[in-house]
Amino acid sequence: MEKNPEQTIRTSMLPYGQQWLDEQDIEAVVKVLRGDFITQGPAIEAFETKVASYVGAKYALAFANGTAALHAACFAAGIGEGDQVITTPITFLASSNCVLYQGGTPVFADIDMETYNIDPAQIELKITNKTKAIIAVDFTGQPVEIDRISMLARDRGLVLIQDAAHSLGASYAGRKIGSRADMTMFSFHPVKHVTTGEGGMIVTDNEDYYRKLLLFRNHGMTRNPEELLKNDGPWYYEMQELGYNYRMTDMQAALGISQMDKLDSFVSRRRDIAARYNEAFSKLEGLVIPKQLPLAESSWHLYVLRWDLQHFEVDRKTIFNELRSMNIGVHVHYIPVYLQPYYQNLGYRGGLCPNAETYYQTSITLPMFPKMTDQDVEQVIDSIERVHGRHCNA
Ligand SMILES: *Cc1c(COP(=O)(O)O)cnc(C)c1O
Repeated sequence: MEKNPEQTIRTSMLPYGQQWLDEQDIEAVVKVLRGDFITQGPAIEAFETKVASYVGAKYALAFANGTAALHAACFAAGIGEGDQVITTPITFLASSNCVLYQGGTPVFADIDMETYNIDPAQIELKITNKTKAIIAVDFTGQPVEIDRISMLARDRGLVLIQDAAHSLGASYAGRKIGSRADMTMFSFHPVKHVTTGEGGMIVTDNEDYYRKLLLFRNHGMTRNPEELLKNDGPWYYEMQELGYNYRMTDMQAALGISQMDKLDSFVSRRRDIAARYNEAFSKLEGLVIPKQLPLAESSWHLYVLRWDLQHFEVDRKTIFNELRSMNIGVHVHYIPVYLQPYYQNLGYRGGLCPNAETYYQTSITLPMFPKMTDQDVEQVIDSIERVHGRHCNA
């Protein structure tokens, strides 16, 4: 008999991720609300400058959300009908939907079974004369092998877009993510490292991309006298491309500026939690802790625990449900994108990326966010130990 019945682990559901806002954040937003500009005011540029200098990029552009930012990056990269773009199946839908928005074709390259990131060797195998770009995703916050992938992109004349929704604050070979790809996207959704409610950003060193992104964010419109084909007068503007309204508000940017002050401490707390999880779970037979490459310094957006199912007498769903019944808000990230009905209707088929499918069958995401208390962390560990003790047959 167990000493503690399951219900006593905790009384409320511990989410897998959550924002952390304080009075300084709230004050920053209220100050904008009392001022003259609530959209596209001075906070937008200040936020862009802050993120650009943090990651070491020349230009930054804020967007309504990360998905809009990815869409804009695909536009700036010139992706259109007939173009193929290589990306990973283990990602959020937006990483490949942005290619479809532009009429391009996503091509899925399988993941590396140790890092769960896209495998550079698989990218190489998928390159054809129609390939236009690579969208590399820093899954869970561990950067992709950016040295290898950017060299490959340069050699083959491909645009490299880095989906860094999970990796703000992470580094590779000592350099912050955001300074390596042609364009890098960050998301400020509440589960990400810092939040603006909804929000996203593209950083780049390339002035041409920057100008295209700027047009795309605002209906394809410009008032810049240097860009106008003619000039009827001071009121005059021109629509030169088909753009969208993908602007962020000043309230959101003010929140983002305030949140950026805490980014390093948030990331450091996430790293501590990961270290504690690793220590606890490396002792348990049949559990696979997330492997880190020597050059990668993850910012730990997600902590994924894999279950070597031959050591267990039950399946992943049973384990998942038992953890949920203990109020541990576990999740699964992600269902391979091409298995979605929409993608199946486009002609993608199961079996395309075997590693991704094995990964999907055997993974569970544990709660991981900076506001978690030490007690929350120990409760997660306790719940895993209980489930492991009950079902491991090793
Ligand atoms: C969150 C996320 C996005 C999209 O960001 P939103 O701001 O939610 O639109 C894209 N890619 C990945 C990998 C994400 O996790």
